[in-house]
Amino acid sequence: MKLVLIGAPAAGKGTQAARLVEHYGIAHISTGDMLREEVAKGTELGLQAKEIMAAGGLVSDELIIAIVKERIQKDDCKNGFILDGFPRTVVQAEKLDEMVSLDKVVYINAPDAVMLERLTARQICPNCGASYNKIFLPPKKAGICDQCGTALTQRKDDTEEAGLKRLRTFHEQSEPLVDFYTKKGILFEVDGTAAIDAITQEIIKGLDA
Ligand SMILES: [Zn+2]
Repeated sequence: MKLVLIGAPAAGKGTQAARLVEHYGIAHISTGDMLREEVAKGTELGLQAKEIMAAGGLVSDELIIAIVKERIQKDDCKNGFILDGFPRTVVQAEKLDEMVSLDKVVYINAPDAVMLERLTARQICPNCGASYNKIFLPPKKAGICDQCGTALTQRKDDTEEAGLKRLRTFHEQSEPLVDFYTKKGILFEVDGTAAIDAITQEIIKGLDA
């Protein structure tokens, strides 16, 4: 099972990826995590990426494609993989197409208003790092950490203004990809407003069909 996962910020992409990895025994490939790992290990790719990021630049298509190409040849990908965070552009999608034949592209879709409500509902404890969500996982006492009693705060990128910006970026990047994979006939869209378990069931049903 070779998959790509596309979903807006707060669409529950991470949770669904983890469940699909477990269900199908496939590898979870997050390009963001991988770049951080390569940098930490000081590999040649990592050193290149570090230089680019230190100069404030975005890692080039060539570099990220090279990283993905190497990664999908590893042993843990023999049953397949789920790509998360890649491809971000049609150029990257075309390159990926040359490397591997994807089974499906899962697109977790939800209206912006729903996503924004979820994004801005996230709260974290600045003391112990516990995370909450006013809608899905509220603390026992509003605004106070269950673990240590500290007043909860919001991450800078979870404010309404930052949330709108992230959603705009997501649409700009993802819409051409959604079109690209729709034309290829492998896009599978699920309703991201459903409950987490229901979304998982719908994805598995769709992939097994
Ligand atoms: Zn705490």
